[in-house]
Amino acid sequence: MSHDRTGDVIDDEPPAIPTHDPRCDGRGWVDRDGDPAIPCYDCKPNLRPAELRRALLDADKRRENP
Ligand SMILES: [Zn+2]
Repeated sequence: MSHDRTGDVIDDEPPAIPTHDPRCDGRGWVDRDGDPAIPCYDCKPNLRPAELRRALLDADKRRENP
């Protein structure tokens, strides 16, 4: 823990960024009973919509071959 020049405590911890959908039920579903059911894309990345997967793939390729 550090202090600024006035002696106030500086919050060193960056705000937590959720890396996982907070609505996930822990078994891979955001809304299992929905119509259509909504999967958690963090738990079930193979269920990501195709265009989103393609966009991620393109971004990866751009990173490898700028
Ligand atoms: Zn999940």
